[in-house]
Amino acid sequence: MGRMKSRTKKALWRFWGYLILAVAGYLWLSGDLNFVLILGLSGLALLYMLFAAPMWCLAPNSTNGKPCSNNAYGLLIGCWIRKHKWEKIKMIFRRQRWAELGRRSFSTVGAQAAAIGAVGSFTSAIAAVITLIVKR
Ligand SMILES: [Zn+2]
Repeated sequence: MGRMKSRTKKALWRFWGYLILAVAGYLWLSGDLNFVLILGLSGLALLYMLFAAPMWCLAPNSTNGKPCSNNAYGLLIGCWIRKHKWEKIKMIFRRQRWAELGRRSFSTVGAQAAAIGAVGSFTSAIAAVITLIVKR
């Protein structure tokens, strides 16, 4: 029983970025809006999606051409294989590879959730900034 509890806690800890994004979403929906707080939470959630969300590595595998399926963290960072580490960031700088990167990200559930989370937190952060500017 106690063991299972700690495992749940561990799982929750791995997905903290999604929880933070959920809190930000909740703040948007609640009437009492604290935009600085929302901005902070959205920024944190975005960083989590880019650098910490658990998913497959998905870097191009030189041996068989298929995307790498090692465990990795974040949309931008690959797995433990050194060559893969920066492969996805490099892809972002080559614009013609965006479509490929997008297709790859949407081929697995973990990356899909993180990509949607990244768009959501980015949108939320931008909306909070705009509201802060307009309100001033
Ligand atoms: Zn890899």
